[in-house]
Amino acid sequence: MSMNSTGRPTRANDAPSNEVDNLKNAALLPNEPLLFEIGDIDHCGVDLPDVKIDSEYLSGFEREGSLDLPGLSEPECLRHYVRLSRLNMSIDAGIYPLGSCTMKHNPRLNEKMARLSGFADIHPLQPVSSVQGALEMIEELAFWLMELTNTDAVSMSPKAGAHGELCGMMAIKAALEAKGQGYRSIVLVPESAHGTNPATAAFLGYKVRSIPANDDGTVDVSAVIDALEENAENVAAIMLTNPNTCGLFEPDVIKIADAIHQAGAYFYCDGANFNAIMGLVCPGDLGIDAMHINLHKTFSTPHGGGGPGAGPVVLSEALAPFAPVPFIKKDGADLSLIEHVDDSQSFGRLTAFHGQIGMFTRSLSFMLSHGKDGITQAAYDAVLNANYIKARLEKVFTAPFGNQPCMHEILFDETFLDGTGVSTLDFAKAMIDEGFHPMTMYFPLVVKGAMLIEPTESESKKSLDYFCDKMLELANDAIAGNAERFTQAPKYAPLSRLDETLAARQPKLKWIKGD
Ligand SMILES: *Cc1c(COP(=O)(O)O)cnc(C)c1O
Repeated sequence: MSMNSTGRPTRANDAPSNEVDNLKNAALLPNEPLLFEIGDIDHCGVDLPDVKIDSEYLSGFEREGSLDLPGLSEPECLRHYVRLSRLNMSIDAGIYPLGSCTMKHNPRLNEKMARLSGFADIHPLQPVSSVQGALEMIEELAFWLMELTNTDAVSMSPKAGAHGELCGMMAIKAALEAKGQGYRSIVLVPESAHGTNPATAAFLGYKVRSIPANDDGTVDVSAVIDALEENAENVAAIMLTNPNTCGLFEPDVIKIADAIHQAGAYFYCDGANFNAIMGLVCPGDLGIDAMHINLHKTFSTPHGGGGPGAGPVVLSEALAPFAPVPFIKKDGADLSLIEHVDDSQSFGRLTAFHGQIGMFTRSLSFMLSHGKDGITQAAYDAVLNANYIKARLEKVFTAPFGNQPCMHEILFDETFLDGTGVSTLDFAKAMIDEGFHPMTMYFPLVVKGAMLIEPTESESKKSLDYFCDKMLELANDAIAGNAERFTQAPKYAPLSRLDETLAARQPKLKWIKGD
């Protein structure tokens, strides 16, 4: 049995999946076949009685052939999923420095709270009188979100960051229409923006006007002012991320907000990176009109991990009347969920039900267990950890905007790999062989071969040092001319370089026997 570089046993990549003998302990086999390939239609995991259905009920639509469902016993089925889970890279298994995703530790206390049956087992269509506790929990979370941002309102409906952007921009659109300015058709979006920002603006029918970055990675204020002058009366909003996706705090954010407001437009702030400033900066004080907060990322639950997300949107006084329904109303001790309001300026309904209860519970649990001092400490530690990585790696790695401290994440480019035959992609693949999930790559687009590293506050100095040692060892090996280690990587993953483009363009969504 061969070993990988962290001393774990592994197997050769070429063991074909159809040779897997699933009756053996297959925990370490690299390729897990589909349930359909393991099970067969002749077996069934449970004893089902023969059902005699009067065919009159089915009006001639009775199934004629077999359903082709895989038959497995409960342990066989369980083992399949446990084996699959072992193929997952996760924050619970090691550092996961995926920039802009805030892959932080999910405190188990928050998981315990989310599983309380008064939150976990309720149904959205239950009578409101029977879910008063859940509504109170949502109200309390809403209060703290407004408190942390110093804003006047919050919509709890959006189910993720991008959905929050849609919500905030729909409120802006409704506000402009209410002022008779629905003709404003342009949204300014800095070059370093997350892809969801221009996508949201375009989805709502806006034209996206790109704003260039300064040489130091921040937004060029004069370019914002020029764009406002050029398109007088026609700009609806700016969508600005702060801290931005180069990991930098926008120093001129107040100037930008003032210019936008003077032009009669609104300031949408992408707050996905709130983890770096929570408890320290109130975005409301910076002049924002709308900002989504990624509860996943900032307040427990890593991005993409542990199920759904939630992207509540805080709103300024000017936008508050346009918030969507439903919302919670408190009347003495009674809480009600307002689903319809006559004569309201609300832009309507964004989602069927009111947000993601599990995410709400985890986030409130995170806030209450951390307290004000703990929340600010988490932000300080997230920034400190990123700057520690910056300080250790910048001796070899090239940080294009490195002459200033970073916030919660540090951006490198691939200049240090020039002439080595190794690209950012190759480097990332070699990190997999070292047991790490790669950093965010090729984003933001403002630098060549971006490597965006966000350690979060979860990592100890020991784990940061382990990560930095391995990263420096890899970089020095690439520079020393050992390109093969990178271009052939990953060697120890169950599968190596997959054709992701083909998979995205021609996804196989159906299992066909023998295909
Ligand atoms: C993660 C992220 C988003 C989108 O959030 P989702 O929950 O993935 O929709 C938007 N902007 C930035 C800067 C982000 O990091």
